[in-house]
Amino acid sequence: MKYTLPELKFATNALEPIIDAKTMEIHHQKHHGAYIANLNKALEGLEAFETWSIEDILENLDKLPEDVKGAVRNNGGGHYNHTLFWESITPGGKPMSEAFKVKLEATFGSLHGFREAFKEAALKRFGSGWAWLVLDGESLKVISTPNQDAPLSDGLKELLGLDVWEHAYYLNYQNRRADYIEAFWSIVDWEVVESRL
Ligand code: MN
Repeated sequence: MKYTLPELKFATNALEPIIDAKTMEIHHQKHHGAYIANLNKALEGLEAFETWSIEDILENLDKLPEDVKGAVRNNGGGHYNHTLFWESITPGGKPMSEAFKVKLEATFGSLHGFREAFKEAALKRFGSGWAWLVLDGESLKVISTPNQDAPLSDGLKELLGLDVWEHAYYLNYQNRRADYIEAFWSIVDWEVVESRL
């Protein structure tokens, strides 16, 4: 399968001032675009994987030939994670349901407790990576992954991810990753997040 760059569901300037147009443009076209180009290149000529979805591939990295495994893990994860990310954000955000709020409160004590756990995961990820709200079986968990590793590869179901690579926020926030994390809450589309349950 040749992977292609998914269209954004909003204009590149629609998330301002939370995420600036230039960052969105470079992030989507150049960074995500490069993950896709490199993923396609890594899988070139591997006919056995032509019918596999990106999910199939990330769930079965061990089945890939040794010489392309690293490239597919990084670039396939890059494609998958960014696709989830773009779908999870929307101008102005969309509120979470009462039922989901109750679920978060049951796990993290309060909505504030959830946000603090997520913020900590995002802040403590040294270097590049992601913070996630995932389902582990029936349980909600907050985790972080390095580089472009996808929770799916560890048997987890992604509900919400935040890209904390510097390319995601540096133009607008420079070294202020905490401010970027805080601002992120105002653009989360909880309808999409909950639809993944
Ligand atoms: Mn990114």
